[in-house]
Amino acid sequence: MTDCLFCRIVNKEIPSRLVYEDEKVLAFEDIKPQAPAHILIIPKKHLASLKEADENDQNLLGYLLLTARKIAQDKGLAESGFRLVINSGPDSGQEVYHLHVHLLGGRRFGWPPG
Ligand code: 5GP
Ligand code: ZN
Repeated sequence: MTDCLFCRIVNKEIPSRLVYEDEKVLAFEDIKPQAPAHILIIPKKHLASLKEADENDQNLLGYLLLTARKIAQDKGLAESGFRLVINSGPDSGQEVYHLHVHLLGGRRFGWPPG
């Protein structure tokens, strides 16, 4: 048992709408979507945020981005464009302290972000 929400999703203790899974990562739909497509890509290994990552996680971090790219392609978002977001720490608004990449697409986003 763990009290980390996303570890519990990895362990299937909490249901999610799965988009992709392999031995290293999991991707599922965000429960409160901020765009027509809003998918979270997470490592199965618990890392609280990008702050906790180090050189040993180099391959895993690259793999997260390539997985996000593949899902964007599969969902037909690659041509129109998409946005990846990694919140890290209080000022970013991070709410769940298990590293995750937001994949957002299906609408036009503003810049700078709010
Ligand atoms: P953060 O603010 O930490 O970058 O993003 C956390 C994200 O997790 C938010 O977009 C929020 O909607 C999503 N989220 C929070 N709890 C759950 C949950 O139980 N299931 C799913 N699928 N998403 C969640
Ligand atoms: Zn976790």
